[in-house]
Amino acid sequence: MKQIYVCEKCGAQFDTWQEANACEENHVSAFEVSPEWNPDLTWNWGCAFPDEVIVRSREYNWRTEKYEYKYFKYKSAGALTKKRVAELEAERERLEAEAEAAYQKRVAELKTDEKRKAEPEQEAVG
Ligand SMILES: [Zn+2]
Repeated sequence: MKQIYVCEKCGAQFDTWQEANACEENHVSAFEVSPEWNPDLTWNWGCAFPDEVIVRSREYNWRTEKYEYKYFKYKSAGALTKKRVAELEAERERLEAEAEAAYQKRVAELKTDEKRKAEPEQEAVG
């Protein structure tokens, strides 16, 4: 038997807790976009789409017990092709269908469990 450590953010596996922890700390999970750092940025319909956006990540550091912020500048690589948009849409639909199927399966399982509990116990007789 082998003990492995899994990064809870990306699923990567490591031999040591330190490595897994370092991987987790490397990820950026929460982020925000603020007009404060993007004065030219407007979210109104019809406005030009920004070429650059500054986003801020926010991670909780359990050692210092404080939130840590990092700033990233993202540049637009231009509009996506219709083909790429169609691929992204198809992937989103696939994931939604998958989630819905898992949900329906779980609902069916719960109903079966309830039915089993409601039925009189006959196993001891036979
Ligand atoms: Zn990771």
